[in-house]
Amino acid sequence: MAEELMDYDEAVSRFDPVIGLEVHVELSTHTKIFDGAPVTFGAEPNTNITPVSLGLPGSLPVVNEKVVEYAAKLGLALDAEIAEYSTFARKNYFYPDLDKAYQISQSEYPLIIGGHLDVDLPDGSTYRFPIEHAHIEEDAGKNTHVGGSDGRIQGAKYSLVDYNRAGVPLVEIVSEPATGVGAYAPDIAGAYVRSIRDLVRALGVSEGRMERGNIRADVNVSLRESPDAPLGTRTETKNVNSFRGIESTIRFEIQRQAAILARGGEILQETRHYEEDGTTSPGRVKSDADDYRYFPEPDLVPLTPSRQWVESLRDSLPELPRARRHRLQEEWKLSDAQMRDIVNAGALDLIEQTVEAGASPAGARKWWMGDIARFVNEHELTLEQAPVTVADVVELDGLIQSGKLNDKLARQALAGVLAGEGTPAQVAAARGLEIVQDDGELERLVEEAISANPKVADKLAAGNMKAAGAIVGYVMKATHGKADGAHIQELIAKHFGL
Ligand code: ADP
Ligand code: MG
Repeated sequence: MAEELMDYDEAVSRFDPVIGLEVHVELSTHTKIFDGAPVTFGAEPNTNITPVSLGLPGSLPVVNEKVVEYAAKLGLALDAEIAEYSTFARKNYFYPDLDKAYQISQSEYPLIIGGHLDVDLPDGSTYRFPIEHAHIEEDAGKNTHVGGSDGRIQGAKYSLVDYNRAGVPLVEIVSEPATGVGAYAPDIAGAYVRSIRDLVRALGVSEGRMERGNIRADVNVSLRESPDAPLGTRTETKNVNSFRGIESTIRFEIQRQAAILARGGEILQETRHYEEDGTTSPGRVKSDADDYRYFPEPDLVPLTPSRQWVESLRDSLPELPRARRHRLQEEWKLSDAQMRDIVNAGALDLIEQTVEAGASPAGARKWWMGDIARFVNEHELTLEQAPVTVADVVELDGLIQSGKLNDKLARQALAGVLAGEGTPAQVAAARGLEIVQDDGELERLVEEAISANPKVADKLAAGNMKAAGAIVGYVMKATHGKADGAHIQELIAKHFGL
C-alpha cells in the first residue's frame, strides 16, 4: 500500500515534530544477567543456556553484579541519578522467544533516573537530549521464521527459536519526548544514538555494534500544530537497528503523519515495522492501556547501591567521548567541520595514536583522511584494515619534516607502502624517491633556469619573487620532482639577494 507523503520541508514547516527514543544496549558481560550461562556471539543455537535462562520451573535468578556496575556507570556518564532503591518486576506477555511468559525487567523503581546526553549537530550547535530513566532487563530469545517472504511470522512455514540470547543483559534508555528538534529531528536522533554507541564503547560496558544487534532502538514520532500545542499522538517503530534506519524512520513518519493530519485525519497510536527501503509499515494498534501486568519480581531482592560505591564508580569513569573530541580538536587546532569529518570517517583513534607516536597532528590527519582514506574506500576496507600502520604514518611524516621527502614524493612512498613494498623509508630508498639535498647541484640548476628564462630573471632582479614559479618548475622538472619547492625559493632569493 503506497502511503501518501508530504514533502519533508513542507511537513516540518507546517508541523512541530517530537521524537522519543527507547534505546536497548546489550551489555558485554561474560555471563548472563541472572545466571552463569556464557554470553558469546555466534555460538551454536541453544548452547549458551542454563535452566535459569530457559526459565524452567524451580530455577532461581541471581543478579550478576557486573550488570549493575555497568548500568550504573552508563547512568553516571548520562548525568543521571543512581537510585538508592531499585527493584525488578515481571513484565508478562506470551511469545515463543520468552518461554517463561514474563520478562524480568524494572518498572516502578528503575536503577537510573533522569539524565541527558549532549549531542553535537552538523551545524556546530548542541542539542541536550533529555532522558526519563534507564532500567536493566533481560533480553528474550531469538525467533527465526522460515519460509515466509520477509522473515516475519506471517506466511512462515515454521519458526525456530534460539535461547542463547535469553537472559543477555540489557539497559534500556528511555528518553523524554524530545521537543524543539524541528527539521533536524532525524539528525538529532541519529547523533543521539551514535553518541550512546560511542559512550558505551568508551566505558567498556558494551561492544556497541549495531550490526550485531548490540544497540536497537524503538523510535517514537509525533507531530503537533505548534511548539505550544499539547503533544500529538505518536507511532512507535520497533527494533530499528541501524543509524540510517533511525534517521529514515523519523523522516518517513514525519512525512506520512503530516499528510494524514493535513487532510484532517487522525494518527493511530500503533507500533510500526521498519522496512529496509526506509519506510515503515503498520504493526499492531497500541493503546496506553496496554497491560503487561507488571508486578514485583518475588525471586529477587531490591538493589540498594551504597553512595560510597556510586561515588567510587563515578571516580573511575574514563574521559567521555565528547570531552575527548573537544580536547583533541583544540589540541590539533581543527575546525568543527574538520573534526566532524575525522569522527565520521572513524579515524579519530588512529590519528590520536599517530600523534601520540610522534607525528604532527596536521600530517597524521592529512594522510589518514587523504590517500589512505581514498585507498580503503576503493578497496572497501576500514581504516584499521588498511595495509599501513600507525608507525608507517609516523615515519612518513618524519621524512617530510626532516626535508627528505616533499609532499609529492611522500605520496609515492605511501603508494608503495599500500602496495606492500615495505615501510615509507624502505620504499623511498628502493624507488629512489629522496629529495636532492645537494645545494651545489640545486644552485647549478637554478642558474641554468635563470639563463634559460631571461624575462623571468629580469622580474626577479627587480625584486618580484612572484615570478619565481617558473624557475622552481624548471628545477623540479630537472630533478624529476625530487626537490623541495620552498628550499628552491630560498636559493632563488639568495641568488638575487632578495
Ligand atoms: P510506553 O509505556 O508505551 O513505552 P512511554 O510513555 O514510556 O510509553 O514512552 C515511550 C517513549 O515514547 C518515550 O521515549 C517517550 O519519550 C516517547 N513519547 C511519549 N509520548 C510521545 C509523543 N507524543 N511524541 C513522541 N514521543 C513520545
Ligand atoms: Mg516502551
